[in-house]
Amino acid sequence: MEKSTGVIWDESYFWHQTGNGALNIDSGGWIQADTHAENPETKRRVKNLLDRSKFMKELQQIEPREALPEEVEMNHGRDYIKKIKRLSDSGGGDAGEHAIVGPDSYEIALLSAGGAITAIDAVMQEKVNNAYALTRPPGHHAEQDEGMGFCLFNNIAIAAKYAKEKYGLKRIVIIDWDVHHGNGTESAFRNDPDVLFISVHQENIFPKRRGQMSYTGEGDGEGFNVNIELPAGTGNEGYFYTFDQVIEPIIDQFEPELIMVSAGQDPSRFDPLGRMLMTSDGFYQLAMKVKALAEKHCEGRLVACHEGGYSTAYVPFCTIRILEALSGKQSGVDDPFDQGYHEGPLYQNQIDAVEKVKEIQGKYWRL
Ligand code: ZN
Repeated sequence: MEKSTGVIWDESYFWHQTGNGALNIDSGGWIQADTHAENPETKRRVKNLLDRSKFMKELQQIEPREALPEEVEMNHGRDYIKKIKRLSDSGGGDAGEHAIVGPDSYEIALLSAGGAITAIDAVMQEKVNNAYALTRPPGHHAEQDEGMGFCLFNNIAIAAKYAKEKYGLKRIVIIDWDVHHGNGTESAFRNDPDVLFISVHQENIFPKRRGQMSYTGEGDGEGFNVNIELPAGTGNEGYFYTFDQVIEPIIDQFEPELIMVSAGQDPSRFDPLGRMLMTSDGFYQLAMKVKALAEKHCEGRLVACHEGGYSTAYVPFCTIRILEALSGKQSGVDDPFDQGYHEGPLYQNQIDAVEKVKEIQGKYWRL
């Protein structure tokens, strides 16, 4: 069988329950709750669109396995892991700031982290060209001993540590394009020069006091953490500019052996939790840029892990375009929201933001 793009997916990812809420707040308080923002529908609809368009047949579905407790322990404290299990077994509870645990969430979170590990194995063992882990719950906000921002275990951090351990990789880059800062992943590798973490996010959004450009890592990891804060309203052109001016030259100098992406589709223009203006075509172009970097430096080895994205109507169109880019195949699906939309220009405040990053990171990289 011709090698393709792997999609890691399991029905139980859609069974992690976050209950009622109003956007990101739990039920109770002043406003009637409807559905919590991090609910199964967005990601389920990604799968629905892949099936309905028959594009799934062009991709290679791979079943995930559960992460082993010792694999999760590479990134999380034993007591924290036990706490998630205890909450999950007792019907649910709270694992941190906006980190809801429902019944059976422990097993599903193990399968979500295991999905990212499965993606690593599939790519490293050359079963697929690249892989997309369509898993839930997401991971990039989860800290070592604390859940946060709908995340319980940090899937991408666990998978990167697994890749280092199992395959002896010395240079991994993680690009986090979720609209929020990937604080948990940053924490996981803050002292580690083997993992270059690049987060591009909307400034001053979530979590508070994280993701500042001035933070560049520490100890041996100093210079291997790149935070890019972009102003609200940055659209495709601003993201492309950021990639071309900062992300690509840094990755060219780092020469990764594997590229990973925390793919949150919440910089989309319809996202209820973000204020960016990316279109489905913008995500396609970003994925093409990352794929080209992977081909240039590491024989195309690329693993993407789905993070946030809360527009149930739009995230599926963004994600299918990413999968088109990764696979080099066409789904035949037109983005129905594209009609009449004019791409936003590159504004001066976006250029200024990138110049600031270049100034800070210029200490470590030729920019
Ligand atoms: Zn997010």
